[in-house]
Parts: sequence; structure tokens; C-alpha cells
Amino acid sequence: MKVDLHLHTYFSDGIYSPAQVVMKAKESGLDIISIADHDTTEGLDEAIEVGKELGIEVIPGIELSSSINGTDIHILGYFIDWHDEVFQTHLRVFRELRVQRAKRIVEKLNALDIPLEFESVIEIAKNSSISRVHIASALVKYGFVNDFYEAFNKYLGVGCPAYEKNIDLSPRKAIRLISEVGGLSFIAHPGKYISEVDLATLIELGIDGIEVIHPSHNDELVNYYRSIADEYFLLESGGSDFHGGLRNDENCLGKYTVPYKFVETMKKRLNLK
Ligand code: AMP
Ligand code: MN
Ligand code: MN
Ligand code: MN
Repeated sequence: MKVDLHLHTYFSDGIYSPAQVVMKAKESGLDIISIADHDTTEGLDEAIEVGKELGIEVIPGIELSSSINGTDIHILGYFIDWHDEVFQTHLRVFRELRVQRAKRIVEKLNALDIPLEFESVIEIAKNSSISRVHIASALVKYGFVNDFYEAFNKYLGVGCPAYEKNIDLSPRKAIRLISEVGGLSFIAHPGKYISEVDLATLIELGIDGIEVIHPSHNDELVNYYRSIADEYFLLESGGSDFHGGLRNDENCLGKYTVPYKFVETMKKRLNLK
């Protein structure tokens, strides 16, 4: 069984529809996937339906944006009851805050003499959970940068002149939102940015698990996070963080997988079959 628990669709910053993502997963030999879009569950119903047709189990997921002292802390949620009205109300607020932040980023770019229009970003993002990725794509499209990575390295990344912090949500609240809809919470790709102190804080807060397998983790990091998971009785997850598009990550599909045992253990913890 091949399992990839971290995929994005065009409802956040991926470029493919949920149906396309599930088809690509099938072509890559995956058996179980999770769609974990940023601050939205809009892609889940379609993915689950297409998954049923193609014989792929789609675990309902999400990737919530939170932060500690301005550092992004992404929290993955699995097996969430995403139709919950209160949960959806929170997600709508998060997405509205993202729109306001995107406007502030465009204002900063304009002040840097880059006449990018907010409307051009909306044309790319449409109704999805708007992110810096859409702004980066617009900067590439209108020739203000040569490629996607230049957009982040020069303007949008942490510490760059057009950087704006994302939603000011605490990990405590992110973990609670996920558990209130029956889900399990995981620290996403800790190797990308999470300090020892923040990791300890998240464990104290009652995070359920750690994403151990991720393209940003080398073998050493994978072993390190697995040992932390063992020590604190935490669950393990992992996946490709596939987005498609300008970052050339098509070859990630099918390469960053976790054992079926990880999913079984999650289900056991939740008393699911
Ligand atoms: P946002 O949610 O708006 O903060 O955008 C974060 C998304 O941008 C992440 O989920 C990644 O998909 C992408 N991203 C963040 N930093 C970089 C970077 N330095 N280079 C390329 N992509 C990035
Ligand atoms: Mn992303
Ligand atoms: Mn992330
Ligand atoms: Mn992700």
C-alpha cells in the first residue's frame, strides 16, 4: 500500500482540481491519499467521490496556518468532520484574512515600484484560499520576476521587503479546532523551520503527531523526528506536499510515502475502522 498524506489542489495553492490530483495519485501508484489544502476543505467532497470511482481512499485533511512569535507553524489535521458549520465559519474568516494580507502585500510591492494589480492576483487565485503562491505566479506572469523562486527570494519570503505575516492564529487554537471536529493534529514539515523550543511547545499543547516524511527532510531529520515521536508517544505522518505548477514537483508523487501502518494507528487512536 502506498500512502501520501499531503497533497494540495487549486482550492489552495496547488494548480490541479481535486479530480486531477486523485487521477495523478492513481497514475503514481498511490492507494491512500489525503488532500490537505491551506485553510480550506473545498476540495474534499470531489476528491473523495473521484477516489471512490478509482479505488483510492481519500482521507479528509487540512493544513491550518498558525504562528508562534511571527514564525509560521503549519498544523495538519486528518480525519476531520469538515462539514461542521462552526469549523467552516472559522475557515471562512481565515480565508478573508488571507485576502486582506494579499492586498497588503500588493501595496508593499507597489511601493517598491512594481505596478502589480490586485485584480491580476485574483484572476489567478479565483475563489481559492489566496496565498503568496498566487502573488508569485502573478509576478512571473507579468514579467516582474524571472521565476517563481525569484519572487519568494526577492520579495515574498520571510524578511523580504514585501513580506507580510500570515493569519495570527495560535497553534493552541489550531489544534483545538481540529480536535473539535474529531481530527488528529500533526506538525507539518517541522524540518523547514521549527525550532526545538517551538517543537517542545507544540508537544506540550497536545499535538497528536509529527509529519516525519517530507521532501524538505533528509534521512537524518526523518530519523530525528521519528525518535521524538517514539519518545512522546506521538503519531507519524508524511507525504509529498505536492502542489504542481511552477515549482516542478510532479516527480514527487509516489516518492514520499508512508507505511499503511501509520494510517492504521491513526484510525485506532480514533476508534475508526
Ligand atoms: P502563504 O500560505 O501565503 O504564507 O504561502 C505559503 C506557501 O508558499 C507554502 O505553502 C508554499 O507552498 C509556498 N512557499 C513558501 N515559501 C516558499 C519559498 N521560499 N519558495 C517557494 N515556495 C514557498
Ligand atoms: Mn502551499
Ligand atoms: Mn506547509
Ligand atoms: Mn502543504
